[in-house]
Amino acid sequence: MNDLTLPISDAGSLLDGEPIAEAAPAARRTRQARVAWGDHVVTVGGDAPVRVQSMTNTDTVQVIETAIQVKELALAGSELVRITVNTPEAAAAVPHIREQLDRMNINVPLVGDFHYNGHRLLTEYPACAEALSKYRINPGNVGRGEKGDRQFAQMVEVACKYDKPVRIGVNWGSLDQELLKSLMDANAKRSKPWELKQIMYEALVRSAIESAQAARDVGLDPNQILLSCKMSAVQDLISVYRGLSKRTDYALHLGLTEAGMGAKGTVASAAALSVLLQEGIGDTIRVSLTPQPGEARTQEVVVALEILQSLGLRHFNPSVTACPGCGRTTSTVFQDLTKQIDDFLRSQMPVWRDRFPGVEGMKVAVMGCIVNGPGESKHADIGISLPGTGEAPSAPVYIDGERVLTLRGDNIAGEFRAIVEQYIERRYGAVTAAH
Ligand code: SF4
Repeated sequence: MNDLTLPISDAGSLLDGEPIAEAAPAARRTRQARVAWGDHVVTVGGDAPVRVQSMTNTDTVQVIETAIQVKELALAGSELVRITVNTPEAAAAVPHIREQLDRMNINVPLVGDFHYNGHRLLTEYPACAEALSKYRINPGNVGRGEKGDRQFAQMVEVACKYDKPVRIGVNWGSLDQELLKSLMDANAKRSKPWELKQIMYEALVRSAIESAQAARDVGLDPNQILLSCKMSAVQDLISVYRGLSKRTDYALHLGLTEAGMGAKGTVASAAALSVLLQEGIGDTIRVSLTPQPGEARTQEVVVALEILQSLGLRHFNPSVTACPGCGRTTSTVFQDLTKQIDDFLRSQMPVWRDRFPGVEGMKVAVMGCIVNGPGESKHADIGISLPGTGEAPSAPVYIDGERVLTLRGDNIAGEFRAIVEQYIERRYGAVTAAH
């Protein structure tokens, strides 16, 4: 095997090579859709930030329960919330859910998820059509042949009438079987047939693009069309979205469908979405986590925010850099402090976001011992380096790279929280005062 390691330059010519390029997400170049409720407009695509969305798992007919979950998702950071609209009763409930939200001052736009009977529900329940800010149509579930085309057109006509954007959401689990069959037939006639997977990818991408064209033919503004082609395997999703983004400039809704539960769902979603977002693919994301028993639905929003923040695409919460701990931190003091600080910052953010603009970009370091503690703490805006087991019971605190004081005793956590709060007031409160 060749040794690819480049020789290190001699002293005196230390920087004579090429600098190492800084990694950054590629620019996105899509059209921009406007999803609005009243004066509140959420732009998706183009130069808008990558948006976070989520979906309720309540029975839409249960108006109060659904409105409360929408509120929780919105407060957690979801900028759009989708609800199932599957029956006449659900369609009738939608305007009441909207009213409840308006009463609670929650202006998050609602997206209606339609399958099979969307054409009837949207035409027979105009108040539902108006209360929703966007419709999701699955071209695989609108009906077959000419009837399917007619029913699809019916839904798009409603979108045009009320000026609502539409997501054409293709899903591998409910792919248009006629299209798949015609591609299989065409493949059988090729001298060098494609792999089955490539036919599958082609069917998904074609279904989305052809449906978008059909929506435009009905009169829908192309800027008001979003596309998605969801798959449940990471490499399949990456393949399909790469293909999709090469062939269209519609805004793309990105998500791994049926991601699963817990660590599996979180990691699979992060893996798939990160690759694509880094390539500039994806204008709005949803993390489709199956909640673990007792887990809040908002966990999917927490994961979505973390993905965007980890990639440096957006900042929602101050970031806490913490070492993993090791044999030098055998007590739980370090873990407790890290959790307390993290919980404290997250719980305060709904208030701080308005009071202290810019605080979401703050970096806090909570480190276990002197090995990396002082170094990481100096790089953060504010940091603390705890005493490792067996070290002197003192914890130096660093602010803006300078060691400013050392905490001792058994209330290090409380005192550090107070210092963080004072720092935020001083640094970010000044921004508010200047405005
Ligand atoms: S900073 Fe110290 S406690 Fe934390 S992982 Fe490194 S050596 Fe272990």
